[in-house]
Amino acid sequence: MARFGRDKLEELRQRADIVELIGAQVRLKRSGRNYLGLCPFHSEKTPSFSVNPERGFFHCFGCGAGGTAFDFVMRTEGVSFPEAVRLLARRYGVSIPERDDEGPAAGERASMLRAAEVASEFFAHVLWKTDSGAAAREYLKRRAISADSAREFGLGFAPAQPAALAKALERRGLIETGLKIGLVKQGSDGVHDMFRGRLIFPIRDSQGRPIAFGGRVLDDRLPKYINSSDSPLYSKARNVYGLFEARRAIAQQDRAIVVEGYIDAIALWQAGFREAVASLGTAVTVDQLRILGRNTRNVLACFDGDSAGQKASIRALPVFLEAGLLGRGIFLPAGLDPDRLIRERGAEAFKALIDSSELLVDYFLRVEARQARGSVEGRAAAAKRVADMLRLVSDDFEFQLLSRKAIELGVGDEVLRSRTGPSGKRSVPGEWQRFGPPTVAAKAAATVGAVEAEVSLLAVALGYPELRSEIVRGGALANFEDRAIAELLVEVCGSNDAGVEFGASVSEKLSDDHRRRLSALLVGPLMDDPVVARKLIADYAAALERRRHRREVEGLARSARHADEKEAAAKAQDLISLRREAKRAT
Ligand SMILES: [Zn+2]
Repeated sequence: MARFGRDKLEELRQRADIVELIGAQVRLKRSGRNYLGLCPFHSEKTPSFSVNPERGFFHCFGCGAGGTAFDFVMRTEGVSFPEAVRLLARRYGVSIPERDDEGPAAGERASMLRAAEVASEFFAHVLWKTDSGAAAREYLKRRAISADSAREFGLGFAPAQPAALAKALERRGLIETGLKIGLVKQGSDGVHDMFRGRLIFPIRDSQGRPIAFGGRVLDDRLPKYINSSDSPLYSKARNVYGLFEARRAIAQQDRAIVVEGYIDAIALWQAGFREAVASLGTAVTVDQLRILGRNTRNVLACFDGDSAGQKASIRALPVFLEAGLLGRGIFLPAGLDPDRLIRERGAEAFKALIDSSELLVDYFLRVEARQARGSVEGRAAAAKRVADMLRLVSDDFEFQLLSRKAIELGVGDEVLRSRTGPSGKRSVPGEWQRFGPPTVAAKAAATVGAVEAEVSLLAVALGYPELRSEIVRGGALANFEDRAIAELLVEVCGSNDAGVEFGASVSEKLSDDHRRRLSALLVGPLMDDPVVARKLIADYAAALERRRHRREVEGLARSARHADEKEAAAKAQDLISLRREAKRAT
């Protein structure tokens, strides 16, 4: 909570009543202690979306979406946690000072936004209202982009004169700022416009404000595109073109389609695929996927159907996995980009390609399985590549499914033998440091229940302040492996505040997956009865204890294999007694 003051977040939480906040978008009906409605994140006819005002959580038992008021804003507006805090603060009139946004820095940022806005309006004016825009209007017609679509995306035209925008900025005292964000550049004979004779695509932030621009020539001159370089307002790797326009559709469809170019995104939008965004001309980045991943787990990327496109899809897989997404590939007929495909074959053709899209990881496994069939060496190399790739899968459940699939395809040996599980890259306290990570097979059998137990103990602590001391006394905390959950549990147990007051901490600190599990528990019936909740504490503590024993047994078994004979006898004795103990704990 370094960035925003704790008391300010608390004030915000009190004003931003979760039922009122969600009720503004979803029709909610009281049902017992919860409010029920139709889920805004997937389409359904009978309500499975619940809001619990007392605990400050929502959860959809249909699609699994869930979390706090902050998560709801992050999801519906497609913004990060700090951005959600700012949005809520503005909406409820709470002033939230931020260290890096105070004083002169804030004033400078505001004037940069102002300069970008001036530029955007200037370009739009030239496109629609002047003679020099005629060629660009003609070009849009040729590319079959309607005036409505062009207006929706705020398109404009930069005239060919060397300093038209520069003059407009000068008149408003914004020329210095224009230089800073790359709208104009200093030449030997004065300040010149960066974009000249180009169709302009504004790139907007999550609130729809222009922060950068892309410009395309109207003919075949090179470079075809120039784009704003990174500035204090804008980072190419961390923005997605069209997200502001696509956000609602992405939430409704629970799906996003990533294309490369501006015009492809607009063409798809225009053809009814309003969940389309563009990666700003390059291959999609981890940061861009993380941003999309906050809006939906289903992200589809377009690739050429030829062999270069297939290789590109395999290169994209680790980027998706790194962002916590599996990702699907839409394979286009060779030589057709989405824009041309739609113009030549219609929206139906694109729809059919979406329907036949394939999980990137499935495609990858099929390719590796094919390569493994050749020779023993080929098989070993393929198995190693599969193991390396699957290590990037961060979700335990997905990891297990994929490992199983790899094994069925005959390229899973390395995955099984591999010493690091999916969590191998994270820093893990306790047992793992002492014994090294457990084998994947053992981990698969052991951890699902234990992860559930960690989240559940946090849920009990949030729901029942009076049971917190019992959780602490039970000693389960020593057996936690997820640091974020453990830290939050310590924070909660060290306080007498009601669980609802930890909403911001939950949204800021926990992973997406853990927040969903938490909201399911806190909104569902399991935690309604304090007697049941108390009994659960003991069950969960026991599950964590069992995991610790298993880890110790595994660790000893492993070192026993490496120890020399004399030691081995002693270790074997240890192992036997540990196994016995573990059996009793089960
Ligand atoms: Zn849902």
